[in-house]
Amino acid sequence: MAHIKHPVKTIVIAGGGTAGWMTAATLAHHFSKDQKVKITLVESSQIGTIGVGEATIPTLRRFYARLGLSDIDVIKATQATCKLGIEFQDWHQPGSHFVHPFGLFGQPGNNIPFHHYWLKQRQTGDTTPLSEYSLGVMLAEHDKFCMPSPKPAEPWMIFDWALHFDAGLFAELMQKTAQQHGVEWIDAKIEQVCLNQQSGNIDSLQLDNQQPLTADLFIDCSGFRSLLLGDALKVGYQSWQQWLLCDKAVAVQSELTEEPIPRTIAKAQTAGWQWRIPLQQRCGNGHVYSSQYTDTDIATETLLKHIPEKTLHQPRHFSFTPGRRDQAWVKNCVAIGLSSGFLEPLESTSIALIETAIEKLLLTFDQPQNAFFDDSKVERFNQVTATEYERVRDFIILHYKLNQREGEMWRYCREMDIPDSLSGKMQQFKSQGDIPRLPWEIFGADSWLAIYNGMQFWPQKYNAGVDKLDTGFLHKTLGEMHQKIQRAVSSVPPHSAFLQRFCDYQPKQEH
Ligand code: FAD
Repeated sequence: MAHIKHPVKTIVIAGGGTAGWMTAATLAHHFSKDQKVKITLVESSQIGTIGVGEATIPTLRRFYARLGLSDIDVIKATQATCKLGIEFQDWHQPGSHFVHPFGLFGQPGNNIPFHHYWLKQRQTGDTTPLSEYSLGVMLAEHDKFCMPSPKPAEPWMIFDWALHFDAGLFAELMQKTAQQHGVEWIDAKIEQVCLNQQSGNIDSLQLDNQQPLTADLFIDCSGFRSLLLGDALKVGYQSWQQWLLCDKAVAVQSELTEEPIPRTIAKAQTAGWQWRIPLQQRCGNGHVYSSQYTDTDIATETLLKHIPEKTLHQPRHFSFTPGRRDQAWVKNCVAIGLSSGFLEPLESTSIALIETAIEKLLLTFDQPQNAFFDDSKVERFNQVTATEYERVRDFIILHYKLNQREGEMWRYCREMDIPDSLSGKMQQFKSQGDIPRLPWEIFGADSWLAIYNGMQFWPQKYNAGVDKLDTGFLHKTLGEMHQKIQRAVSSVPPHSAFLQRFCDYQPKQEH
């Protein structure tokens, strides 16, 4: 049966946070040549934005490159620093730490992933940690930074990077880009979402100071409230709180007295974990916690106790339910950003999920001069969105499941039943050392390996193909690789030198 085509000539984006302006900038850029689609963004300066969301993953850099922005442009405009990965402190046990890098561990041989060679080497008594075969980890741990070579001479040199940025400044940059491409901006409060009685579609948004705002397609970027998809269209929400216990956060910015490091810190606490995100002149801090295992006062005290510098404002509090909307697109309304779902920011995935939602929308409008949607496109969008969220959910649960910490919350996490999709994946690694990359998965094999290894969860056996290699040759090859990585790290300048040289960064002591 042919699907009915719904032409799109007008789009209204409800909300001007990170999600709203990223969507506006990209759609306007996409449609800019044809000028056949009118885009309006409405937001309320009275309500404001969530204002957190400062750690990203490398996909962000591809996102803004498509808008014609360079890394240096964005770093300068958003007071950003470079991020090579996340350092997890105290997650396995108090005192433990490891880095999840945006890069590889070693290099594969004969189509066998590197960790199998490392496992064999380890069995012969060599104690070199797997992390020392990762250039990304070593640079991150030594506070070094350089842009990776676009054509690395050897596979072990491959690493990637992302940004820590000021969320407000990034939204401003996206707003500027969107308006340059013709997006109309209205500062007003949406008072009511008016539905068509017959079709159930959204007809218009009633604003507090204007005529009703009509459109062919509405994009709900209204944040946790989900004004259009949740409130008006009554689309349900799947909670994943049985696996992800954290449901609150408290955040505060602080001064930064040391040089910014090129990694996010995620430190486990009694009832959750604490982040530290260094920008050029200040630091973002927050404590994500479970209200079942602590209360707001203790969580705030825990956060402040672990910030060495002066804080810059009163702590801000957030509540959330981990999960996603049953469908991200219903009728003529698509939700992007917090209105479509939220997973705690342990792996900095919210902005990445905004990017993937926007990419899917662009695929829907692959012919900009003839933009339309139909049921099959909507169904595809919803299926892929659901899968992407579930893959991220599993990856985050993994961090909790493998802990060996004391304490009620951590014991619960260790012993809880986990989704079949995750237990199957863990089983495959435990029994054979395999890490399959599933469709629509944001994190690849080396990311999973970083968590498995950091949490000391290793396979029972290595791939038998490794035994074809003579043990002496294995020692020599791995030894040489290790040395080359050490040498490479020592030749790279400090992260702060990179920022000073290319991004107008002024170290504090020079003020
Ligand atoms: P918001 O920023 O809340 O924007 C909503 C918009 O809707 C605003 O413009 C508001 O004015 C408008 N609006 C709402 N109601 C109305 C109305 N009635 N009329 C008119 N306008 C209205 N993500 C990451 O990728 N990395 C991180 O490190 C990270 N850390 C986080 C930490 C915490 C504690 C939390 C809660 C989230 C974090 N996130 C992180 C998620 C990230 O903040 C969001 O994904 C991102 O900011 C997008 O938010 P948004 O645009 O969907 O919503």
